[in-house]
Parts: sequence; C-alpha cells; structure tokens
Amino acid sequence: MATAFGTVFMPEMAISWFDGSAWSTPEMVPSDSLQLHPGAHVLHYASTCFEGLKAFRHEDGSVKIFRIDRNVARLAQSSRLLSLPALDEAQVTAMIREGVKRFAADVPAPPGSMYIRPTHFGTEPAIGKAAAPSLTSCLYILLSPVGDYFAGGDRPLRLLVEDNGLRCAPHNGMIKSGGNYASALRPTLRAKAQYNVDQVLFCPNGDIQETGAANFLLIDGNEVITKGLDESFLHGITRDSILTLARDLGMKVSERDLTVEELLERAAKPGCEAALSGTAAVLAPVGTLIYHDQEYAVGDGGVGATTLKLRKALNDIQWGRAEDRHGWLTDV
Ligand SMILES: *Cc1c(COP(=O)(O)O)cnc(C)c1O
Repeated sequence: MATAFGTVFMPEMAISWFDGSAWSTPEMVPSDSLQLHPGAHVLHYASTCFEGLKAFRHEDGSVKIFRIDRNVARLAQSSRLLSLPALDEAQVTAMIREGVKRFAADVPAPPGSMYIRPTHFGTEPAIGKAAAPSLTSCLYILLSPVGDYFAGGDRPLRLLVEDNGLRCAPHNGMIKSGGNYASALRPTLRAKAQYNVDQVLFCPNGDIQETGAANFLLIDGNEVITKGLDESFLHGITRDSILTLARDLGMKVSERDLTVEELLERAAKPGCEAALSGTAAVLAPVGTLIYHDQEYAVGDGGVGATTLKLRKALNDIQWGRAEDRHGWLTDV
C-alpha cells in the first residue's frame, strides 16, 4: 500500500454514546463525520484517550485480533485516569469484534493488517468544566487497513537522547491520551530539525523512559533490558509480548531502571542492539543515539539479528504461522 499509515478508513464504524447514566446500544454509522457541540469537553480540556490494536488474516481465511483483552483493559484504565465515564469492557470488546467482522473481507493479508483505533472522549457542552469531568462521552471504533510497515526495508532509527525535557506530565505517562502526544510534539519536531533524528528518547534526569509513541528495549547479548512498569510511561502491549517471547527463547529479561550512562556504555559494545516496540511496527531497530551533540552507534549501527528474531517470533504468532501458546488471538 502506497498510502501513509492510518489514512485509509473503512466506511463505517461502531459507535456508542454515554448520556450520563447509560451507554446507548452500539450501532454502525458512516465513519467520515461526527457531530459534536463546539463546547464539547474534549475540544477544550482534552478529555480523550485511544487504543491501537490489530486484526490479522490467516492462511485459512480466518481473521484474528491480537490481545484484545489487554487493549480494552488499557482503554478502561485510561478512561478512569482521565475521569471519563466508565467503559463497559464487554460492550467495547463486542463493538471491536463486530466492526472487524463486518469488514473481515478487507483485512489485508500479512505483512498487512487491519489497524483498530478505539477512541473515547468527553462530549459534555460545558466550557466552565475546566476542573471537572465530562458527564457524557462518546466511544467509537475506527478501522484502517494498513500495509507493510517496513515496505521500504529496515532502516535503523536515529534517536535523540533527551535527558532534560519530559514527554508528558509524569503522573499521566500510563494514559494513552492525545494530550501526551501534543506535549511530545514540539520537542520531537525540534529534534528532527536540529539533529535529523527519527524520534526523541525521553530520559528525564538520565532515567530512560520511552519515545513519543514507542517503548525502548536494549538487547545486550542474551539479555533484554527495559524500564520496569511505573506511572511515568505507557505500558506497551508489544513490550509485554516481546518480553514474554524473549523469556520463552531462554533470554534473560531485566525490567529495571536504565540510565543514559549505562545505555551508552553498553551500546558501544559489539553485538549490542536497541529497538522500539509498538503495535504499528512491532519492533523497529535503533542504530544511532545522539547525546549532547555526539553520535553513538548501537553495536555496529545496523539492524540487529536478535531484534529481527524477536519480531519474527511475534509476527509468526500474529500471522498464524506459530502456535499461539499464550492465547493472544481472538476470533472475530
Ligand atoms: C501506544 C504507545 C506505545 C506502544 O504500546 P503498544 O501497546 O505496544 O502498541 C508506547 N508508548 C506510547 C507513548 C504509546 O502511546
């Protein structure tokens, strides 16, 4: 597919509205417009969160959704932390499955997939509610068929190691919310212009957290090192899946704080690898780190063999080419 990721949409989406006391019966509506009051809470006070998950076509023609339970649980958690109305997780799950089922014929074959974007936001027309939650909200499930993320080949990424700025307010890190993306945009654009990097690796006070939209993993020989879960960053489901598969492959997994100093020391060793994890790319290799105006290659600066091995192990499960030992796939 020649189009940019996430710019093609299925013509309909499942939608439900919370009126302050109950969720409306979900329905399928055209996906090209949405009517909102200009005073809607989300447009002023950013009461919004979303998810990103994928459905895959298997060789037998069936369509499977990857780790839907985890994504729905995370959307419910984001909603809770943003003081949005509580979700009905069973209803959200059913909406996702119904939507994908309706457009099952449009789910691309591997390496493509159907990207699923559940979105929940506050709709109450109340611009006086700067410090109060929206009592009403809207939830919809947008569907976007996507092609091969690595269609142009694997290119190791360049990251600016930023030990000064923050991606978002520390108490909001584990919320998958548009506001956090808005907060990361300016430092990311500045870094792109100044250092020709792909992403910023946010490391406040030298503590390595994540980039604007992906988790960071250091792969040093047989060990995977990544920050342990806390409130400050987004708990990626790809991160969790890759760590599980690394353990299955007999690798050592260390979930702990990692400083910039240790990162640069380890990255200098031959064979060291780094990668970014997220639903869109699964695992993307990192070849270069830029820190205090100096460039550091990670290992040989190329695409790491272990990174590719772990990505393949996950893709094989998603694509139905390896046994789903952890029960990660759901039928639509
Ligand atoms: C979505 C997201 C990730 C990756 O999460 P996955 O569940 O693996 O897709 C990482 N960091 C941020 C900030 C995110 O928004």
